[in-house]
Amino acid sequence: MNRYLRTATSQQLLIAAHVSQQSNPLTHVDVNRFRTGQGPCRANLHKWSLAQSPSCDCGQQQTMNHIVDTCPLTKFEGGLDLLHEADVDAVVWLESAATAALAK
Ligand SMILES: [Zn+2]
Repeated sequence: MNRYLRTATSQQLLIAAHVSQQSNPLTHVDVNRFRTGQGPCRANLHKWSLAQSPSCDCGQQQTMNHIVDTCPLTKFEGGLDLLHEADVDAVVWLESAATAALAK
């Protein structure tokens, strides 16, 4: 979908976000991970002995809340409240910044 996003119009993005919400539960799962704080952030991975450090690339502890609300590298403008609306910006953020932060 990332290749598609580079050339899509805003109307196409709205349709893609709607389709994503309807057919891909991953977005809702990811939002719930941020809401509950139980996703694979480094603080949790460190707590579960799956990462050597709980630190984010910005130097602070990387909790799920940190990724969405306070990290200068990844925060989502509008925070968790707007993320719940799962609009185009939220879907793009989940598929780019959040995915990149959690993949490290
Ligand atoms: Zn950070």
